[in-house]
Amino acid sequence: MSGPVALPMMTDLPPGYPPFFSRAELVRSARAERLGIPNVPTAQHEQNLRALAWQILYPLREAMGGPIQVTSGYRSAKLNAGTKGASATSQHKLGQAADIVTGGGFSNAAMFHYIRMYLPYDQLIWEMMTPDGNPEWVHVSYRTNKPRGIVLLARRQGDKTVYSNWYGTPRWNG
Ligand SMILES: [Zn+2]
Repeated sequence: MSGPVALPMMTDLPPGYPPFFSRAELVRSARAERLGIPNVPTAQHEQNLRALAWQILYPLREAMGGPIQVTSGYRSAKLNAGTKGASATSQHKLGQAADIVTGGGFSNAAMFHYIRMYLPYDQLIWEMMTPDGNPEWVHVSYRTNKPRGIVLLARRQGDKTVYSNWYGTPRWNG
């Protein structure tokens, strides 16, 4: 790590990670471990992960009142490149995005809607659809510089993932 870097707004974050979310949980990748792909965030990526955890994941966890599982957080460029369905510009590469699912006691749809209504997300995606009317997982990103409040629906079309706009009104418009 080099010398001090000015990170506006980031200085307001508490140190480390919030309760319920560990660095390991946000960085760990079973696929990276299996394939021996390095998955080490830079200092800036780590700051982004902490901001995501404090600004989105922690308040969401408090609101849901039960466990949230992070199925994918930080992905190094190399790891992301080999991830099925991952876009080349994925915010996972910057430590700005996480894929989350309920740990029980509430639905994935409830998480999605809570984020949409109340939290300062940058991009929120309802990922695919289960037979019981939930997203298979929720993708959520955060960035300190003017979160855009983008809400999308993703669905599979053959081998591709197709995105469309969500019809509700985003809470945040950057
Ligand atoms: Zn994602």
